[in-house]
Amino acid sequence: MDFQLLIEQHRNCFNTNKTLNYAWRIEQLLQIKKLVQENDTLLYQALSQDLGKPTVESWLTEVSYVAGEVDYAVKRLKRWMKPKRVKTPIVAQPGRSFVQAEPLGVVLIIGAWNYPVQLILAPLVAAISAGNCAILKPSELSPAVSKVLADLVPKYLDPQAISVVEGAVEETTALLQLQFDHIMYTGNGAVARIIMAAAAKHLTPVTLELGGKSPVYVDETADIEITAQRIAWGKWLNAGQTCIAPDYILTNQQTGQLLIEALKKQIIKMFGSEPKLSDSYGRIVNERHCQRLIDYLTDLDPIIGGEHDLESKYIAPTVVLNPPLDSKLMTEEIFGAILPILIVNNFNEAKSFIRKRDKPLSAYLFSKDEHQQQSWVNEISAGSQCLNDVIMFNAVPELPFGGVGPSGFGQYSGKAGFDNFSHQKSVLKRPFIKDLPIRFAPYTKLKLLV
Ligand code: NAD
Repeated sequence: MDFQLLIEQHRNCFNTNKTLNYAWRIEQLLQIKKLVQENDTLLYQALSQDLGKPTVESWLTEVSYVAGEVDYAVKRLKRWMKPKRVKTPIVAQPGRSFVQAEPLGVVLIIGAWNYPVQLILAPLVAAISAGNCAILKPSELSPAVSKVLADLVPKYLDPQAISVVEGAVEETTALLQLQFDHIMYTGNGAVARIIMAAAAKHLTPVTLELGGKSPVYVDETADIEITAQRIAWGKWLNAGQTCIAPDYILTNQQTGQLLIEALKKQIIKMFGSEPKLSDSYGRIVNERHCQRLIDYLTDLDPIIGGEHDLESKYIAPTVVLNPPLDSKLMTEEIFGAILPILIVNNFNEAKSFIRKRDKPLSAYLFSKDEHQQQSWVNEISAGSQCLNDVIMFNAVPELPFGGVGPSGFGQYSGKAGFDNFSHQKSVLKRPFIKDLPIRFAPYTKLKLLV
């Protein structure tokens, strides 16, 4: 494929002003919804092939998530597109001032493999809402979904404005040579640096949706059964391959023991005593990632789970108590089914543990203590937080999604996505009425004032 030609076609399309049109945007948005809904079975099959995703999970976190983003944007797009009036001070009077959101142009959206439908189509909802053309690059590590998207996108969406490029490093590297108006990348921090360096050559702005080690602190006031249920769901959803999954838990000795027992119960309740046979439990994306997780367990003695099978890319829901802080389990993002629990003495120790490390994508507190809740919100920097839950902030479209520091920058979901792919253009409109002469040279009258 000639990528230069492709971007030129999209730029030509953008220059026709077609994508500025409200009706065009609405039509394309509704087509995205149609794409996922009419082809849900195809998508479920592809997700099962790539990640062993249970159908209900695929429906919840991919198909219905994307449809929900469309509904939310369609309902509000007119309002988002409206110029926002602002006050005009006396020096610019008579006049009217407003901020007009304008599309950026042709954008590149590079997705990751763990939610391969959502991570391509939800940014696309935002890019189209804002009136852009887009090239989509799904992850090569989820090839079945990549192929389905490459087949369906041209059938449902305006091919002059939106296209899919399949491929891996070679194709992405070639795309990155081109001059885009914005690049949104979801994935790991190492590749993010490559993306940003390539974007810098063209001064192209970037949104980086990255990961990190999202901590959880559970104190003695938390309802342990509810806490364990919520954590177990969020951790072992997609076999732990969720960027905002709990990465590790901090808690005190006594609460830790109760939590371990409660997690054991929840795992059995959710996946049975042999999770490998459960149709509610997914698989690791490929052998390389599965081996990486198996290696993390070397010399460790899990207190829950630990069973694994490289051939079927299976890692049991696993809990490890107090792994060494210099082990890979505690120095790298786990991004898999292993959950370390670390015993700390108290809340302050937990906070200082977290603050000594990279700012995470999410941070979760389970506590009834309102002072602790407030201090968590005030003092723990993270992309997002839940108090007494995990992941669910992402079900609230009014809450922007994105990282901070090494977990990324730029945000999307709902209006934040529209803003992410827009330029807020300032406009002052003036009538042809004579100005006060004081503004113009020669500045004899102004000199008297200074
Ligand atoms: P990945 O391997 O699928 O890579 C992401 C994209 O980068 C792919 O499209 C791939 O083709 C491209 N890529 C890979 N190497 C490249 C290179 N050298 N040059 C240019 N492009 C390249 O995904 P991954 O990085 O393994 O994803 C996992 C990470 O993503 C985790 O850290 C996770 O936390 C993070 N993540 C973040 C979010 C979020 O929304 N913040 C969502 C999902 C995943």
